[in-house]
Amino acid sequence: MAELEGLEFGKSDFVLLDEVNMEQFMENLKLRFEKGRIYTFIGEVVVSVNPYKQMDIYGKEAIEAYRGRELYENPPHLYAVADAAYKAMKRRAKDTCIVISGESGAGKTEASKYIMQYIAAITNPSQREEVESVKNILLKSNCVLEAFGNAKTNRNDNSSRFGKYMDINFNFNGDPTGGHINNYLLEKSRVVQQQGGERNFHSFYQVNDDVYCHKAVLSALKVIGFTEEEINSIYRILGAILILGNLQFETDTESVQVVGLEVLGHIAELTATEPDAVGKSLLYRTVATGGGEVIEKGHTEKEACFGRDAFAKALYERLFGWIVGRINAIIEVKDYNPVLHGKNTVIGVLDIYGFEIFDNNSFEQFCINYCNEKLQQLFIELILRQEQEEYQREGITWQHIEYFNNQIIVDLVEQPHKGIISVLDEACLTGGQVTDTVCLQSMDTKLGQHPHYSSRKVALRSGRDGRLSLSRCVHAPPPPPPPPPPRAYSIEGFLDKNKDPLFQDFKRLMYNSSNPVLKEMWPDGQLGITEVTKRPLTAATLFKNSIVALVDKLGCKEPYYVRCIKPNEMKSPVLFDDARCEHQVAYLGLLENVRVRRAGFAYRQPYARFLQRYKMTCEYTWPNHLMETDREAVEAIVTHHGFQDDVAYGHTKLFVRTPRSLFTLEQERAALI
Ligand code: ADP
Ligand code: MG
Repeated sequence: MAELEGLEFGKSDFVLLDEVNMEQFMENLKLRFEKGRIYTFIGEVVVSVNPYKQMDIYGKEAIEAYRGRELYENPPHLYAVADAAYKAMKRRAKDTCIVISGESGAGKTEASKYIMQYIAAITNPSQREEVESVKNILLKSNCVLEAFGNAKTNRNDNSSRFGKYMDINFNFNGDPTGGHINNYLLEKSRVVQQQGGERNFHSFYQVNDDVYCHKAVLSALKVIGFTEEEINSIYRILGAILILGNLQFETDTESVQVVGLEVLGHIAELTATEPDAVGKSLLYRTVATGGGEVIEKGHTEKEACFGRDAFAKALYERLFGWIVGRINAIIEVKDYNPVLHGKNTVIGVLDIYGFEIFDNNSFEQFCINYCNEKLQQLFIELILRQEQEEYQREGITWQHIEYFNNQIIVDLVEQPHKGIISVLDEACLTGGQVTDTVCLQSMDTKLGQHPHYSSRKVALRSGRDGRLSLSRCVHAPPPPPPPPPPRAYSIEGFLDKNKDPLFQDFKRLMYNSSNPVLKEMWPDGQLGITEVTKRPLTAATLFKNSIVALVDKLGCKEPYYVRCIKPNEMKSPVLFDDARCEHQVAYLGLLENVRVRRAGFAYRQPYARFLQRYKMTCEYTWPNHLMETDREAVEAIVTHHGFQDDVAYGHTKLFVRTPRSLFTLEQERAALI
């Protein structure tokens, strides 16, 4: 429970609610938002509501107020969590991570930047040059990643179209020595197609109209350590993608041609290839016949368009991946000797898309929601584990907490041989005549009996006919919250998006570029047509593997959480859309979080701090106590107020079961000061 500011600002920790139900939760959330209190704790978790206006709470003074303090000493803030993660890392040599989740526009990326700025501000007090340089590169990498990975969408003008996990490494002094970035599922389809009102990735506009941003990105690239040649190559690739975006085909008599042959020359120039070779890869594909013969097969116009788009998307995706890889190579911790330098510890910061539930959900939402299902599972597991470990450390009996384990949903998606991804991959392998609808039928056969799977036919205007739904319910008694509604996905496009095919001819073209930077991005282009026997992994499987690795990485760290909520769809600083917010609270499992936190002990505090705060409420402890230990003095306060049955005494902390006891104390304290 954080320092109470007074009830007019609502309760600063949701565990203090009189009753844990949606109504009270929402009432408190709304009241705090309206009073400009955008952060609220659930124990050590920070719930954040996007203020959509500049808040004067991130300056130097605030940083100093949170620096090195305990979580509960100040009002809820991102800095409190950042500091807690940092302290655990520095004092206890623990690897920690801060998981930031929430839907698009909820404020995740802003939160991750404030957290990084906080960490940068409190480290390296002696201003050592090499540490400053590492910090600078870490901060600048945000600018570059945003330019290439963010775009204006209808929900957020600066929406991250990829998931990001960044490890920051620290030496035994607690100063940053380097880092590593993992990126997840870049939304590359945006390169060739955007919804009405949305834009392509920022980078494409920065060359022409957003010149101011371009300068900042250029300078960031240079600070990070990209060479002139590399920077040049990046912008040449962007140029080539832009030209591909305008490239048209026409069919005359029988063969397909590129409209306006000069575009081939431009692409060739930008990619350091030959115009003829570019034309050929756009119009033909090389295939091996059954007899081992290699022939060139002309595309139909439709195939040519498909190939062109796949090429543009792949160029961008590989460019993005390469940029992340280059940053990693530069910030990688080199020459770290644990014997000389002590344990190298890590704080990870995860800024990743939250649950997405739209009117029409597709393959991307399926992947994103699967990822969130995994993270949700980890969240519950880790929160419970953390509680359990704390009780053990403090010598307090642990009582088992019942909760719904959403492993069953995760399994439904990822299980080998029978999960949804596996059925999907199988359909992709079959090739030929398998359509999305056939694939759905095969899921029905294999998964029809699963309690969380269902499919139904829905006639939609677009002619879509298949829907796949997953239902999910998460609850911890008593009493279970109503389960969120099942999510339904349109099966249309699943197969194509999962296969994500790119003709080998493009890969070879790029591998044969005389620009070494470009060539480096396409190592798989060196394979000849007869050598390409192994099918590349599907998009869903690649994603699954990366998420499994991510969860493993997070699982061995001490987690801290920021749960972001978007108050309205209008980007308004004054509007609190009750229904929208409630929906998010449900999907983020926040009520469950409060319940878990309260099922054991809602509140705990080191004896000395408890004493400091409440000693004036008891005659035996005010102004000073005469007892041997702080613990005894705390016992005196507790007994004096008559809630001795509501507490447990740990080795170093007092644990209070129900918030009401504490509330009494707080009120008494408030009356005295
Ligand atoms: P997400 O990463 O969750 O999609 P962002 O972090 O990009 O969302 O936030 C979307 C927008 O909301 C930002 O561009 C900014 O205008 C506003 N915003 C988010 N968090 C804050 C904050 N703490 N203070 C002020 N504005 C914010
Ligand atoms: Mg973002």
